[in-house]
Amino acid sequence: MKKSMMTPELDLSIVLPIYNEAGNLETFIPELSGVLRDLGRTYEIIAVDDGSTDPSVATLRRLKVQEPHLRIIRFRRNFGQTAAFTAGFDLARGRYVITMDADGQNDPADIPRLLKVMEEGEYDIVSGWRQERKEPFLSRRLPSMIANRIIARSTGVALHDYGCSLKIYHWEVAKNVNLYGELHRFIPALASEMGVRVVEVPVNDRPRRYGKSKYNLGKTVRVILDLLTITFLLNYMARPMQFFGLAGLLSGGIGFALGLYLTLLKLLTGANIGTRPLLLLAILLMILGVQFVMMGLLGELLTRTYFEVQDKTIYMIRAEE
Ligand code: UDP
Ligand code: MG
Repeated sequence: MKKSMMTPELDLSIVLPIYNEAGNLETFIPELSGVLRDLGRTYEIIAVDDGSTDPSVATLRRLKVQEPHLRIIRFRRNFGQTAAFTAGFDLARGRYVITMDADGQNDPADIPRLLKVMEEGEYDIVSGWRQERKEPFLSRRLPSMIANRIIARSTGVALHDYGCSLKIYHWEVAKNVNLYGELHRFIPALASEMGVRVVEVPVNDRPRRYGKSKYNLGKTVRVILDLLTITFLLNYMARPMQFFGLAGLLSGGIGFALGLYLTLLKLLTGANIGTRPLLLLAILLMILGVQFVMMGLLGELLTRTYFEVQDKTIYMIRAEE
């Protein structure tokens, strides 16, 4: 816990990552504003322009005349959707932080329902689930189905649709989750470390009106790589030695046993062991074992630095009563 020491000034912060969405913003922002006004809560819309090269910023400036709660944040260059979300989280002043795509694929009309679930169930994350996706099956839905399955298995947070941008976060979660690379998909999994209550609610998915999707099949491969990182972080962040140490003991142990066997063979029968591939394997495994243990020790050092530099505690308190 650190940034979370502040208290929220507003009810809602809507975070929109924007990369070349001028055409879509024109209709999407007024639609979103309409829904938010009807809700009767205090709100802000944080539009994060992720280095657009089209007139997105000019469009936002024009829309700000009608919607004074619009904040326009301009990145210096294209940093990616995860960075845009992070900037939104950092700047958010709302008690609940709502993320959604700016291309109009997420439906603002879903917000009141999600919010109701959030408040009634005292959840920390309400995640949208696009039950009927409007995208092509082979190139988009199938890979994401597979990715969702794998993520659910290996992170222990069982959602059907990690990729849905429409999500509501309690501000404590939004302020405390640290994102790198393209990890925004994994926020619920990352946040599980804090002990969050997550629920999934079906939402509407609409086709993109203008422009093209910024992602393609290559994304799936990168998602799988990110998954490796996440799984490791979630399980061994606070105890790397138990991961590397185990591998080290196994490898070193087997290597030692093989070495011992060869030594005894040599001593007892006088056999020539110098040319046996097994000797090479024994030596290799023993060296690897030492390496793994060393890596574990280094990992322990890094973990200590990580927690201490950030004044991070290894626990998180939900409330004191
Ligand atoms: N986006 C962004 N930076 C990027 C790529 C995308 O801010 O580098 C935004 C984009 O403008 C949109 C959202 O992230 O609001 C989702 O992108 P997109 O619609 O292309 O993804 P898809 O819906 O096809 O998964
Ligand atoms: Mg989209």
